[in-house]
Amino acid sequence: SKPAQRIAISGAAGQIAYSLLFRIANGDLLGKDQPVILQLLDLPQAQAAVKGVVMELEDCAFGLLQDIIITDDPKIAFKDADFVLLVGARPRSKGMERKDLLSANAEIFTVQGRALNEVASRNVKILVVGNPANTNAYIAMKSAPDLPQKNFTSMMRLDHNRALSQLAAQSGQSITDIEKIIVWGNHSPTMYPDFRFATVNGASLTQMINDETWNREVFMPTVAKRGTAVIEARGLSSAASAANAAIDHMRDWVLGSNGRWVTMGVPSNGAYGIPKELLYGFPVTTANGEYTLVSDLEIDAFSRERMDLALQELLEEQNGVKHLLG
Ligand code: NDP
Repeated sequence: SKPAQRIAISGAAGQIAYSLLFRIANGDLLGKDQPVILQLLDLPQAQAAVKGVVMELEDCAFGLLQDIIITDDPKIAFKDADFVLLVGARPRSKGMERKDLLSANAEIFTVQGRALNEVASRNVKILVVGNPANTNAYIAMKSAPDLPQKNFTSMMRLDHNRALSQLAAQSGQSITDIEKIIVWGNHSPTMYPDFRFATVNGASLTQMINDETWNREVFMPTVAKRGTAVIEARGLSSAASAANAAIDHMRDWVLGSNGRWVTMGVPSNGAYGIPKELLYGFPVTTANGEYTLVSDLEIDAFSRERMDLALQELLEEQNGVKHLLG
């Protein structure tokens, strides 16, 4: 059988990981013929909880799960890792200012970036889920100068999937027939879900829906506020859907999107007026383990305004942590 792939996951005791780990061990990420080794990272005070999750993983008797490592040391967790999902992040606590949240996470992702730089596989594929995801990914990337920048990505896929599902419901079309949607920008309320180019079996979805008021007053806010709506209904933040999006993101990156557009947060190459290196949600296609930007799309005045709003927010986030990057 194939040699095992090493998959490191931070925040392993958390909610999202509780959905994610079982699906990875089941082969949902890399395929049903690919053995995996899980390298689980969490804080010292979360180690007992991680052990509980590991007991449950053992009790599933997954045939593909070759080994599990538990640690609170990023250099052990990331050692020779082929894939890294950075899920753990410092949540906003009561009375905490945005600036303090950013600094607390900047510290975590600086340490983790340095550890990745030192010990991870040189081909490692990294996805940052923990918020603020785009800025956390930027910090990790800047802290890992020996790794290719293109290996650092952030999760915009849940926003993409949420948009897709809303569009399918509104148009009465099936999810699998809808292609070419995008969520530009930041995983935050400034995100810009854009279906101007979307098609259903080649026909224009915009023409089918033909309702700009719905787009601006229902669709865009529904997608942007979906996380809050789930928290209100469930009393807890979305976890299974976030884990599912992380799997979609990684699986498409590794196994290819077969020509379909998917949204990934990736370091900008300067396209669409987004400054180089900034981690921003872009449309990409994936093949042979690489992603390729969908370029030269027309950006109208409304889209430019929305894309710049997300850009401004990201620039503020990234300027707020610059001094920590040395
Ligand atoms: P979750 O597993 O629910 O969430 C983890 C992170 O994912 C949060 O930053 C969360 O952001 C983010 N996230 C991104 N997209 C979504 C989405 N669509 N819906 C919900 N969350 C999203 O958090 P838990 O508190 O349950 O678990 C976090 C774990 O991380 C804990 O076990 C903690 O000990 C660990 N941790 C580990 C660190 C490390 O390994 N060094 C550092 C810090 C924490 P948001 O906060 O905005 O919801």
